[in-house]
Amino acid sequence: MEQKLRNEARALLEQGKIDWIIGFEVGSLKFTTTPLITKDKSDTERLVINPFIANNLANFLTQIKGRVGIVAKGCESRSIVSLIQDNKVVRENVVILGVPCTGVIDLSKVEKLVGKDRDELDDIVRERDKVIIKVNGKKKELSTTQALFDHCLACELPTPREYDILLGEPTPPIANPAAQESIKKLKQVAPEQRWASWEKELSRCIRCYACRNVCPACFCQRCFVEETEPQWVLPAPRWQDNLIFQIIRNIHVAGRCTDCGECERACPVNIPLRSLTRGMYDIVGELFQFKAGLDKDALPLMTHYEEKEAEDFFR
Ligand code: SF4
Ligand code: SF4
Ligand code: SF4
Repeated sequence: MEQKLRNEARALLEQGKIDWIIGFEVGSLKFTTTPLITKDKSDTERLVINPFIANNLANFLTQIKGRVGIVAKGCESRSIVSLIQDNKVVRENVVILGVPCTGVIDLSKVEKLVGKDRDELDDIVRERDKVIIKVNGKKKELSTTQALFDHCLACELPTPREYDILLGEPTPPIANPAAQESIKKLKQVAPEQRWASWEKELSRCIRCYACRNVCPACFCQRCFVEETEPQWVLPAPRWQDNLIFQIIRNIHVAGRCTDCGECERACPVNIPLRSLTRGMYDIVGELFQFKAGLDKDALPLMTHYEEKEAEDFFR
């Protein structure tokens, strides 16, 4: 897949079909990748596809002018489609290089399970439904259920539905029930305890806005948190304002969020943000039978109303 990607990306740049290519290259830290955005065809040799391609690259599409080739896993492809639905991206200006995805490895989970820091690990290799960790000349086997990000375990469309070039054979949905366990448990907790739990969690928020900045569905030119007339939240990270920030952000991305998990991954203090975003994703699915980013010709969720929709929601 990696060589095919490099060849295709180079050819697209050489033929002038795209001005930019957005993909992944090896990161400076062990077992990481970083976004590669380039016009230079010789840079295509640095493009990689491996089990650590975590970012949602669709986030960059709204910031780049010209025709763009973009590497897209299933979740990214859905984010791109959602941006097309919102008229933020013109389909003809994008060449989607689809990656049939088998899930991204969560290094924090691996560290906990192996009891070692990532710098102490010699190698991490994905082999079908296993993740092999090599450390001090020994091998430890983890299942994918143990080692992948929760949002990957819940993934409904790992193979992009919308693409121009598919770089490999389609992969089946992962949709492992274990992925929803923590969210299910939280829903079963009494409202008072849930409130107390969010008060505790959001007291740790430092309002760095990483969760917003990595999100392709958060594309307002001016975010409500920066408004001063009226001012919606205080700039200081009080838990109450942090809660308002997250509630409003979740409403803004309702019908656009593809459960890519980037907001939770980017949070430097590990607030379980996916409990909120996936919760909203499920509510949107149940109330409106709508899933973000499946059909570029469909109207965006929040722009139309149908008679059969649940009116109670609006009362
Ligand atoms: S959510 Fe799906 S498509 Fe996205 S990285 Fe995870 S498995 Fe791949
Ligand atoms: S990424 Fe985490 S710490 Fe930063 S604003 Fe979002 S919730 Fe708060
Ligand atoms: S809200 Fe989070 S999970 Fe949803 S699209 Fe944005 S970054 Fe991805």
